[in-house]
Amino acid sequence: MAKTVNAFGWGAKDRKGFLTPLEFTRRATGDRDVQFKVLYCGVCHSDLHMIKDHWGFAHYPMIPGHEIVGVVTEVGSKVQKFKNGDNVGVGVIVDACRKCDQCVDNLENYCPERIDTYNGVEPDGSITYGSYSDIMVADEEFVIRWPDNFPMDKGAPLVCAGITTYSPLRYYGLDKPGLHVGVAGLGGLGHVAVKFLKAFGTKVTVLDISPDKKSYAIDTLGADGFILSNKPAEMGAAAGTLDGILDCVSVVHSLQGLLDLLKPHGKLVVVGLPEKPLELPIFSLTMGRKMMGGSMIGGLKETQEMIDFAAKHNILPEVEVISMDYVNTAMERLARGDVKFRFVIDVGKTLKDE
Ligand code: NAP
Ligand code: ZN
Repeated sequence: MAKTVNAFGWGAKDRKGFLTPLEFTRRATGDRDVQFKVLYCGVCHSDLHMIKDHWGFAHYPMIPGHEIVGVVTEVGSKVQKFKNGDNVGVGVIVDACRKCDQCVDNLENYCPERIDTYNGVEPDGSITYGSYSDIMVADEEFVIRWPDNFPMDKGAPLVCAGITTYSPLRYYGLDKPGLHVGVAGLGGLGHVAVKFLKAFGTKVTVLDISPDKKSYAIDTLGADGFILSNKPAEMGAAAGTLDGILDCVSVVHSLQGLLDLLKPHGKLVVVGLPEKPLELPIFSLTMGRKMMGGSMIGGLKETQEMIDFAAKHNILPEVEVISMDYVNTAMERLARGDVKFRFVIDVGKTLKDE
């Protein structure tokens, strides 16, 4: 049997999703593995979907957490990229087949055999555990080098929220100065998308259902416009004005209004993952030869590129740092949209094994 190490964290035992302290084991540091002490972990809306089994593939007990930063404490004998004391990050995936076309193209996120950081299934059938926990062990190929002097508390969400927005904006060509791009859902993902778009030099309009976000979007994030997506008059007035939209909404919502905002040939790119399918209004799509696409996080090479870009342009999420024992309240607040804009757990200082 493979060697294991003792670990401690907070996890859910069933789909009620209530998190409690749990002891568990991880694999011991293998030849190509890096072990690190978790310092901070962001609370992604996917964690909320997962602990409550919104998508129907949860394994319990589940230790969530895939926006991870920490400091290396042990490296395997064949590790080349990292040494003890290095600051590192791990996002949504911790392994992939490394042989398929997607892996060869540095798109491990689209490998059919990719292994997720938590709730993933290892080749031996064991389930992976995330970083609402004291330590992580991951293959060095799936570990991100943290830029020097880049804040780890505020920066932690970037390894999921950052790459999930950066990658589609690049891939779908919505990163060109002069374009006018919409961001639907000003939450953890959406507010980072606005920051990337401003750094790319595009014009940005935010679409959300909460009027209180308008001043933040415009005055703080520098968005050029704000539209209440549940107000038909505002949506109608802006019809046909956007080159693209990144849809970061976490709940079931209408695509009709978003498609109608696009210019002919505009692109609607969906990254939000509501728990039920969305309806596709086919006339709105076809009339202007519009395109729809999706995107799922990003590969490891692009994640490193994203974090280096973020450090260079000082792109950091707006976070509320919380203690580990606040996490259930944080989940309730996230469910009702009461967070500006990402909770980050101070795991390093507040996770206590009692
Ligand atoms: P979040 O922080 O909860 O943000 C979602 C935002 O959408 C909230 O600010 C919410 O506003 C807003 N919203 C709700 N209904 C809306 C509507 N009808 N129109 C416009 N805005 C609306 O969640 P997140 O962490 O950013 O995650 C967003 C989604 O992306 C989740 O489904 C998550 O699972 C998914 N995700 C996907 C990937 C991927 O690789 N594709 C990666 C990570 C996450 P209020 O706050 O006012 O309710
Ligand atoms: Zn996430």
